[in-house]
Amino acid sequence: MDTIGPAGLRQGEGSPCNPQEGLPCPSDSSELVQECLRQFKVTGAQLQQIQASLLGSMEQALGGQTSPAPAVRMLPTYVGSTPHGTEQGDFVVLELGATGASLRILWVTLTGIEGHRIEPRSQEFVIPQEVMLGPGQQLFDFAARCLSEFLDALPVGNQGLKLGFNFSFPCHQTGLDRSTLISWTKGFRCSGVEGQDVVQLLREAIQRQGAYSIDVVAVVNDTVGTMMGCEPGVGPCEVGLIVDTGTNACYMEEARHVAVLDEDRGRVCISVEWGSFSDDGALGPVLTIFDCALDHESLNPGAQRFEKMIGGLYLGELVRLVLAHLAQCGVLFGGCASPALLSRGSILLEHVAEMEDPSVGAARVHTILQDLGLNPGASDAKLVQDVCAAVCTRAAQLCAAALAAVLSRLQHSREQQTLQIAVATGGRVFERHPRFLSILQETVMFLAPKCDVSFIPSLDGGGRGVAMVTAVAARLAAHQRLLEETLAPFRLSQEQLAAVQAQIREAMIKGLRGEASSLRMLPTYVRATPDGSERGDFLALDLGGTNFRVLLVRVAMGGVQITNQVYSIPECVAQGSGQQGILLNWTKGFNASDCEGQDVVCLLREAIGRRKGVELNVVAIVNDTVGTMMSCGYEDPHCEVGLIVGTGTNACYMEELQNVAGVAGDSGHMCINMEWGAFGDDGSLDVLSTCFDASVDQASINPGKQRFEKMISGMYLGEIVRHILLHLTSLGVLFRGQQTQCLQTRDIFKTKFLSEIESDSLALRQVRAILEDLGLPLTSDDALMVLEVCQAVSQRAAQLCGAGVAAVVEKIRENRGLEELTVSVGVDGTLYKLHPHFSSMVAATVRKLAPRCVVTFLQSEDGSGKGAALVTAVACRLAQMARV
Ligand code: ADP
Repeated sequence: MDTIGPAGLRQGEGSPCNPQEGLPCPSDSSELVQECLRQFKVTGAQLQQIQASLLGSMEQALGGQTSPAPAVRMLPTYVGSTPHGTEQGDFVVLELGATGASLRILWVTLTGIEGHRIEPRSQEFVIPQEVMLGPGQQLFDFAARCLSEFLDALPVGNQGLKLGFNFSFPCHQTGLDRSTLISWTKGFRCSGVEGQDVVQLLREAIQRQGAYSIDVVAVVNDTVGTMMGCEPGVGPCEVGLIVDTGTNACYMEEARHVAVLDEDRGRVCISVEWGSFSDDGALGPVLTIFDCALDHESLNPGAQRFEKMIGGLYLGELVRLVLAHLAQCGVLFGGCASPALLSRGSILLEHVAEMEDPSVGAARVHTILQDLGLNPGASDAKLVQDVCAAVCTRAAQLCAAALAAVLSRLQHSREQQTLQIAVATGGRVFERHPRFLSILQETVMFLAPKCDVSFIPSLDGGGRGVAMVTAVAARLAAHQRLLEETLAPFRLSQEQLAAVQAQIREAMIKGLRGEASSLRMLPTYVRATPDGSERGDFLALDLGGTNFRVLLVRVAMGGVQITNQVYSIPECVAQGSGQQGILLNWTKGFNASDCEGQDVVCLLREAIGRRKGVELNVVAIVNDTVGTMMSCGYEDPHCEVGLIVGTGTNACYMEELQNVAGVAGDSGHMCINMEWGAFGDDGSLDVLSTCFDASVDQASINPGKQRFEKMISGMYLGEIVRHILLHLTSLGVLFRGQQTQCLQTRDIFKTKFLSEIESDSLALRQVRAILEDLGLPLTSDDALMVLEVCQAVSQRAAQLCGAGVAAVVEKIRENRGLEELTVSVGVDGTLYKLHPHFSSMVAATVRKLAPRCVVTFLQSEDGSGKGAALVTAVACRLAQMARV
């Protein structure tokens, strides 16, 4: 043991704050004792300042600030989720660095049943000094040998074993199973390991040993092990707090707040590394001359200043320094300090804890002091107890300030007014020193009054937690595989999309020729898009699903002006009376060339005829696709395609008249209503159809019909997602495998949820809110998976839609024999307009599949009314031209 002689304390050359300088030995001994104890008192305001300063450092580190380096490191641990409580299986845990110069191996069985715990089996191996200081390979070979020896004694057979590696040294972690040693501590000095991935070194050693097939799944430190080892209580335990030799904490942070991670989804456990916290402004006022002396004499002066006021390694040391000082001043032990009292490390945490315990009598305190070679007087025991209490109280209060900083951080990042949270505690200070926890609790209540914190002691040290990390990682990997398998059919390759495009093209040609095809390719008798010269007032009737609108559309020099009136669905279509002008009827879903469509026009004409005093001319009937194309066409003459992606989906475009069978004339153009929702009704989409599509189709009012539409449009996407979620729940991948009534309910999952869930900002909070509203019991992994499901479904929808648009624009380009076509697509429909990524995914697909077309997408505004009026305007213009 190093000796700090009396001279060390008295002279303290180079020491920034020698106890002697700040604290002369006055003759009044009780005043001297009080002065010593006063130094360890920390005020509420000082604690609040430490809390605020630490929080500031934490946020700087999370934000990626490097210069000046923040006082805490905030290291991501790549642990992304806390235990479900359903984890089960056998796991091997190897601990290196958690228990000094020994290596511990545990066999942990997780039962998956709450409250049912099987005591782990463990064995400790002392690491020979020459191994601790020898080549790195020798250390890892030693570990692998110990593993074999341990496993040989267990009936494990040849099963593949999953191992969690508790490696409690400063590491730069880059993955759950990748961790580079920064520097050895705790007496280890093996060559060739610093800067290396310790997981890889362990794997290689296990392979060299060759006895067992062991998969090293995760590497963690003891803080994370503590958090993860906690039995989930009312809520998950999302903070781990260690006060052992040193002190540290970890907690679950939103990944998007962690600058060094290229990840904006989910949570990640952050190791705060608060032992290194130092801030002259905040810590300065509470540092005592004893702290300064302790730091000065330590192996790492200037470093880990905060830890040196809290960690168990230092509490005994601080007490020793105070007692030595008081002895030297003649206040204690008759003024005689023993050599032991003057030797570093002679008072241990255990001694402090025991002496401080009020139930321990003076006799026991005397024994401990006598063991240190001291000769305590009658009143000494009480004074020594007071010193121990002062040092420990301050430690617990400082620890509380740091914990309160973490809690405020959590409260802030979760945007919660009040935070209910469980903190797992671990380490010998908690185990040996019950008063530490009660002071900590009290102080946290004072510093973070809006947090409802429960403290839960960790089980089996970190071992169970390490097994838990391993189990969670194994579970996540298995679930991720199942999720991927489930979503694989939704991920269409470029080749598959090109094949769809080719099939659509073929179906278009057949449909135009009047041959059997799932695309009906209906002529609309709209022969031109607007050229901008159209003028006049037009009335439009928009017969929607629920509403009936009458619009007065004025097409004039300055543009298009719309006045409209909405009626709830009327019995009589002719209710919309108008004055002068031309009446135009526009109805969704009807079609000009349909006989039903013709009937509507006749019915309308007759109805208008029955009304006196109204003179109207029904000029055209237009569907929404055409209306959309026309409305955008007034502003952009290149707009020759109309697209709808709302409740349903459809498209129209300008075809060469000569290609349209059954319509006279071989020059000029005609707008073709593709009715593309029915594409695939002849079975051509079956290869892409998943079992979820089949379920949605079977439950629909028109099984076997509108197969393309059922993969694309708003009426169905939510249902497809719901069916996938049901399947994933049945596999146990989602919602802990709990089937709920709600998810069985048809149409409960709205397509607008996809938009909300996939919106970039606060996505996961949205997911949680939406699913919680649906009454689904979810974890943050669930939220991520639901997001992935939504993305896969909407991406496929957008890509299929894009393949359709690509087929259309390529057809137009080929019709005209152009090298390159510039064309615009007028689009309407809430799904297209409100989904955050749908439109860009459609455009990206078109760029890939139709590289020779320059396609601009225009969103129509009030496409129905405006477009319908423009159809009429164009019809009138053409009629006028014909007369001239
Ligand atoms: P329609 O197609 O019936 O004329 P819309 O274009 O408004 O009318 O489409 C309505 C459909 O859009 C709804 O059936 C719904 O599925 C879908 N939808 C509604 N809100 C959203 C949203 N925020 N994101 C994506 N889709 C939505």
